[in-house]
Amino acid sequence: MLKLFLPDQQVKSIFEIKPEQLREKGIKGVITDLDNTLVAWNEAYPNDQVYNWFKQMEQSGIEVMILSNNNKNRVELFSKSLKRPYVYKANKPLKRSFIKAAEKMNIKRSEIVVIGDQLLTDVLGGNRSGFQTILVVPIVDTDDKITKFNRSIERFILNKLEKRGLIKWEE
Ligand SMILES: [Mg+2]
Repeated sequence: MLKLFLPDQQVKSIFEIKPEQLREKGIKGVITDLDNTLVAWNEAYPNDQVYNWFKQMEQSGIEVMILSNNNKNRVELFSKSLKRPYVYKANKPLKRSFIKAAEKMNIKRSEIVVIGDQLLTDVLGGNRSGFQTILVVPIVDTDDKITKFNRSIERFILNKLEKRGLIKWEE
């Protein structure tokens, strides 16, 4: 059970994730969370660093799709400025939208990595659906109400994983 919360990799930010490194692992597609993964949850638009990251991925032939539990306005505005496909109100950790996203990308699940800042939505959903998963540290540590509640459970699970030596944050 606990294993479903265990990411394949954890990094401080998306910018540590390089296309060459993904290619080595046989990854052809990325499904990424938006809020607190790409930018802070209260930032409407991607910044230059995010633009460049998407560009790097594109140039290496890695497809990136945005999958968010947030509403249409938020996700559409952000994703359109990157000209990337997106899914809003994804209901993560439910499998359905993850699988739909993979089908849209036309890439095998084993060749897709899910990136996100939350164990309870991104990592759990990605693992359950048969993808590789990468956990990132949330960009800001303020959250909306539901996320605040999830974070308290997350802390409990992270502690357990750490105690068992299953997860380690590199310094
Ligand atoms: Mg998030």
